Amino acid sequence: MAEAEHDLTKFIRTVQDFPTQGIEFKDISPLLANAHAFAQSIEVLADYYRDKQIEYVAGIEARGFLIAAALSLQLETGLLPIRKSGKLPGPVFSLEYELEYGSSTLELQKECFSMGSNILIVDDVLATGGTAECAAQLVNLAGGRIAGFGFLISLDSLAGRKRIAGYEEVTLVRYD
Ligand code: AMP
Repeated sequence: MAEAEHDLTKFIRTVQDFPTQGIEFKDISPLLANAHAFAQSIEVLADYYRDKQIEYVAGIEARGFLIAAALSLQLETGLLPIRKSGKLPGPVFSLEYELEYGSSTLELQKECFSMGSNILIVDDVLATGGTAECAAQLVNLAGGRIAGFGFLISLDSLAGRKRIAGYEEVTLVRYD
């Protein structure tokens, strides 16, 4: 990398009580807005997964799309959107998962890759791990092989790692 390495924590803003009371939101907008910090983030993930024969990068709606798009270009792979309910034209695999309050549904289009394809799943934040676990179940349901996960941020106190135990995981910034 031509530029000196940045401390990526400087580009992550913690916003109290957003979007709801009690949430410490990790805002990656400053990181995305800084060309070098964003490039460095993508490069670190790409460097780790470059020799792992990735065929698709799957991004989780919505901020995961931003990472997946840049990473798939770096790794020269296809891009798969994992979307919230009702956004993808069918047929789709659809799975509901529990949130802290209530539930949500993620979807992946059927037959968007061939059986056994090697797939890297990415998102901006790993929190409780429910979203990542649901994404993994969708990829498995569709017959993909999960090469691993990539996150910009992990909130380690929420123990999301346990939900995707057994898979490789690369995370750039960890908070206790
Ligand atoms: P979880 O399923 O609890 O691991 O939540 C992960 C998903 O929710 C990711 O798609 C994140 O974009 C979002 N998310 C959860 N907690 C936060 C947070 N504190 N700051 C920003 N995004 C979050």
